[in-house]
Amino acid sequence: MSFFRDKVVLVTGSSDGIGRAAAVLFAKAGARVTVTGRSEQKLTVTKSECVAAGAKADNILELAGDVTDQQFIEKLVQGTVDKFGRLDVLVNNAGAAIIDFSGKNGLDIPIDVFDNTMDLNVRSVVLISQLAIPHLEKTQGAIVNVSSIVSSLFTCSQPYYPMSKTCLDQLTVQMAGTLIKKGIRVNSVNPGIIRTNFIAAAGLPSEYAKQFYDKADDKESTQIPLGKCGVPDDIAKIIVFLADRSQSEIIVGQRIVADGGSLLKNNLLSADI
Ligand code: NDP
Repeated sequence: MSFFRDKVVLVTGSSDGIGRAAAVLFAKAGARVTVTGRSEQKLTVTKSECVAAGAKADNILELAGDVTDQQFIEKLVQGTVDKFGRLDVLVNNAGAAIIDFSGKNGLDIPIDVFDNTMDLNVRSVVLISQLAIPHLEKTQGAIVNVSSIVSSLFTCSQPYYPMSKTCLDQLTVQMAGTLIKKGIRVNSVNPGIIRTNFIAAAGLPSEYAKQFYDKADDKESTQIPLGKCGVPDDIAKIIVFLADRSQSEIIVGQRIVADGGSLLKNNLLSADI
């Protein structure tokens, strides 16, 4: 029997991309799933995909809202427990790069961009996790954070998004160390380039996004040693693995890098590959 049968999973940012793919895989494995994002319309699509994967419609709860809104996230966690009676897995996946289009770079980019980035990619994760921990302790559950390879220490013209993901990695380690004493496992997956709505959501033209992903997918390009970029399902499978105690119990406080070898290219000490 599937480990997830009748278990309850909350996936933030599941109205699209990696979060949607994870919600569908959890649903397929028999979990009851809360799906959430700001767009009600996109959540409806996620729910339909979960049902098409085998879930009963009543086992998928849609709650639309902004994860930076404290009142909403209280409703999100409480609404999940009220509906399903428990919480076994929290996937902190909602996130975005907030790009400054004024032509500035580095620390010339205004502080409100920093504040908004940290609010979304770090503060919301702390707050949702705080609310979820008492429920996860009862079920001896798991938290999976979705970070990024940009958390590694290399330079970038728009620094606040990478800074937020480095902070998220530190949060994963800090939570893992304390929460394992309560029986809750915490890990993260750190994707490289994954073909999603991420670039368009950052406000860049969809044609630019297409060219960016096509270049990453070009086998002739040396950008990704594997020869292709990832798709949401690649990361969803790792999220499900890290949430599944029967498969990954021994993994605690780790970052699983999933990037087709891209980071090897950023190591100045490594030979060109
Ligand atoms: P998408 O843009 O496809 O999905 C992002 C999801 O987050 C959507 O469901 C979106 O929902 C939700 N979201 C964004 N902002 C908010 C908000 N303020 N409140 C609630 N939900 C929000 O991107 P990805 O699937 O690629 O991104 C998922 C995670 O993966 C992010 O944390 C991202 O940083 C990370 N990542 C992505 C990589 C990539 O190459 N794609 C690489 C490395 C990491 P809605 O629009 O409905 O609000």
